Formats: sequence, structure tokens, C-alpha cells
Amino acid sequence: TAEPPPAEDIRASDVFVAVKTTKKFHQSRLELLLQTWISRNVQQTYVFTDGEDEELKKKIGDHAINTNCSAAHSRQALSCKMAVEYDKFIETGKKWFCHVDDDNYVNMRALVKLLSLYTHTQDVYIGKPSLDRPIEATERLGENKMRPVNFWFATGGAGFCVSRGLALKMSPWASGGHFMNTAERIRLPDDCTIGYIIEAVLGVRLIRSNLFHSHLENLQQVSTAELHKQVTLSYGMFENKRNIINVKGAFSLEEDPSRFKSVHCLLYPDTPWCPSQVAY
Ligand code: UDP
Ligand code: MN
Repeated sequence: TAEPPPAEDIRASDVFVAVKTTKKFHQSRLELLLQTWISRNVQQTYVFTDGEDEELKKKIGDHAINTNCSAAHSRQALSCKMAVEYDKFIETGKKWFCHVDDDNYVNMRALVKLLSLYTHTQDVYIGKPSLDRPIEATERLGENKMRPVNFWFATGGAGFCVSRGLALKMSPWASGGHFMNTAERIRLPDDCTIGYIIEAVLGVRLIRSNLFHSHLENLQQVSTAELHKQVTLSYGMFENKRNIINVKGAFSLEEDPSRFKSVHCLLYPDTPWCPSQVAY
């Protein structure tokens, strides 16, 4: 079947990618991203962390953003970071807001191709739901006033994107200090709060895409032949087992336990540290 024609001609510089991290993962996770996909996309990538890091500043300058949020893995700390990501996106004027975790690989060419199918001035929320049904939450509307609310949300660990048109409509619930208040209203994590604002408050539906991947799914099932089409990849643990993409590629499991280096050499074979493309 033929692919649909692009709706809008965009380029990588039209996309804002927010990477959420925390100081203790700068060495173990972020460094790998800087070596791989971020190295090709510094202009549109911003790293949101919770501590000062002079080495990181040397590498990406003011694209390293110390949110001054708590380094705890609490709901409040994570919502605090998402709030700063949102405000920074609005400030940059870019067409698309995308959020990923520091254990995601972003394939920018595939991301641009996907977003080109939509129009940034329309209401677009795209990602992969982590549940197979809407989440059931309780909305606190004031003193003792509560009501059940159901909505879909895209799992933050697989990455998701929001068009500028929709992001601007989210402003009363997401900008400045509002995001934290909205998150407290449903007492759920940051990615759920995004889904709550978009689906439950604004009435816009999540567009599901199977091109986003978190380590909460079996990554062995991602087709090797279609790796170049995937928008995000991940690595980590799933059901107590190591969960990684199946890619032969340039590096052994010992050299490249996440498989991100091998994926990167597949997508960008002219990278200096990748083995020569020419094999006899
Ligand atoms: N994270 C954070 N603060 C913390 C712990 C984690 O900002 O105290 C970030 C981490 O850098 C990652 C995301 O939250 O981008 C998810 O963390 P992790 O992958 O460790 O957990 P998961 O929810 O995927 O099991
Ligand atoms: Mn993770």
C-alpha cells in the first residue's frame, strides 16, 4: 500500500526534543545518547536534568537545562521537569514538542517523516499507550468534590509528540506553575497528566503509533528489517529480563549492551567511530 503524502514539509529543526534525565544518569545513560543520536541533532535537542554538570555544559551549552527540580523519583519531581520542558518548548517557537526518556534512541529521520503526515497548527498528540484500556483516575475539583475520569495517555518511556497548535491550547493547564497543580488534581505521573489535559480537558484523542518503543514491551519483537522506520527505541528490563533490540550490527553485546551504538552505525554509517561500511 502506498504511504500517505506529507501534509506539511518540515525538517528536523522544526522539532523540539526534550530528554528527561537526572544527575545520577549523566554518565551511565546520557553519555551514550550524546555519542549517538544527540550528536546528529544538537540543534533541536534539550536535556532537562536536576543538577549542575560542567562537562555537559561544555558539550551542549545552554541545551543542558538544570530544572532545579528535586532529584527524587517522585510524582512531583517528574511533573516539575515536564513543566519546564513545556515552557522551554513554547519559548523556542518550534512546531513540534517531543518528549523522551534518557533510555530512548530517537531516529530523527523517521520522526520527521511521521510528523510530516500531520499539520503542526492542528491538534495532534501522538505516541504509544502503555495500557490496553483508558486509565481510570479521580479528578479533584475542589474541597471534597471528586469525580471519576477516564482517558488514554502515551507512555513517556516510549516518547510522544504534541503539535504546537495543541500545546498552545494546553497552556492554561500546563504553563508556568499550572502543570504541577493539574498533576496534583489527578495525582498521577507526568505522562498521565499530559494525557489528562489533552484527552479529558481538551477532548482531543491520542493518535496511536507503533513506531514508538519503550522497554515495557518486548523489544526483541521489533523487526530488524524495519529498524530504520522506528521513531524511538529503548533498552532496559522487562519481566525481570534484559530487554534489548535484536540487531547484529557493528558491536558485540559486551561492547554495546543497549544496542544503541549498533543501531546508530546502521542509520549513520559515516560516523567516524563506526566500522568501515566497505567489507570484502
Ligand atoms: N528519572 C528522573 N529522576 C529520577 C529517576 C528517573 O528524572 O529520580 C528519569 C530517568 O532519567 C528517565 C525516566 O525518569 O528519563 C524514567 O526512569 P527509568 O528509566 O529509570 O524508570 P522506568 O520508569 O522506565 O522504569
Ligand atoms: Mn526507563
